Amino acid sequence: MTKRDYYEILSVSKTSSVDEIKSSYRKLAMKYHPDKNPGNKEAEEKFKELAEAYEILSDPVKRQRYDQFGHQGVSGGAHSYDNINDIFSQFGDIFGSFGRGGGGSIFDEFFGGGQRTSRREHNNQGSDLKINLKLTMEEIAEGVDKTIKVKKYKVCSECEGSGAKSQNGFSRCTHCNGSGEIRQATRSIFGQFINVTVCNYCNGEGRIIKEKCDECHGEGRVKTETTIKVNVPAGVSEGNYIPLRGQGNSGIRGGHPGDLLVFIEEEQHKEFTRNEDDIYYNLEVSIVDAVMGAEVVVPTLAGKAKLTIEPGTESGKFLRMKDKGIRHLNAHGRGDQIVKVNVHIPKKINSKEKELLKELGKSENFKPKHSHSGTKDKKSEKNFFKSVFN
Ligand SMILES: [Zn+2]
Ligand SMILES: [Zn+2]
Repeated sequence: MTKRDYYEILSVSKTSSVDEIKSSYRKLAMKYHPDKNPGNKEAEEKFKELAEAYEILSDPVKRQRYDQFGHQGVSGGAHSYDNINDIFSQFGDIFGSFGRGGGGSIFDEFFGGGQRTSRREHNNQGSDLKINLKLTMEEIAEGVDKTIKVKKYKVCSECEGSGAKSQNGFSRCTHCNGSGEIRQATRSIFGQFINVTVCNYCNGEGRIIKEKCDECHGEGRVKTETTIKVNVPAGVSEGNYIPLRGQGNSGIRGGHPGDLLVFIEEEQHKEFTRNEDDIYYNLEVSIVDAVMGAEVVVPTLAGKAKLTIEPGTESGKFLRMKDKGIRHLNAHGRGDQIVKVNVHIPKKINSKEKELLKELGKSENFKPKHSHSGTKDKKSEKNFFKSVFN
């Protein structure tokens, strides 16, 4: 049997990022998920095929081998997913319904597609909170510790989250016999399994409050405003978020707290434009400095710095100030500051200046030799186009 192209299976292109691949996989896997297509053999095959393609393309090493050698290059590298349960155990958390998604590092969160996994141990879980955090370019360049104010639910101190007025203020739920669960046997193409759902009557707690706490009225949590410290690493970008586990809303009556997701917003800088970890700066120089060369002072994210303008610098030239940009988020080192030189052409001149320029105009070196379009410095030109189109 000939295998289909992995990129085709996942509806992505050869240049797609890991994030795009992950998001496409998630979408398609949801579509062909066996829970949504009971008894549909074709969907099941598709589901398996997707898992195999995803396993290869989500792994940079396997993906490179596949790009180079095709299916041959990765034979034996991919599981053949005969058993659907293998797929769940391997990629469980991508479907967002298979337990807590682990306490991944902030970097995993940034580059792992960012979709939060949901938990469903309980109906009492506290919700996640989202908050926007505005940062200056200077703060992003070096990283920063911020203190933010958050309005959220916290555990009621009066009843310690139980929701009951006294310690033995509960009675057992008669619907689930105190287990908090309702069990039902179901048959499907994957065999018989026991379907466990949360008891709606007691919300999965197995018990009912007899007398409610006065402070929280039985909820086990109260509204409050609190300050939270956020450690923002250098190099973050707009749309990145920092997940603070368990710092969202407290759950009802001791349920798991949600997370606090701090979303980064970038404040516009008055002088600099960001392009990934490089920053761009427009520098105006006089004709005299451009022709004769000069040492000028330019602002950088870390304060003023000297920059040498070589004699004969053309307008539009890019000068690179190494390591004056933003620290990389996920690697050592930092970006550069790229300075675009603009030669100032005066709009108004007086009669004395006119005389001097006329004189200069007669001089051989001030006569253009040939005309050309664009700059001869191909590297600068590439950077320029990059800056224009980014
Ligand atoms: Zn209370
Ligand atoms: Zn119950």
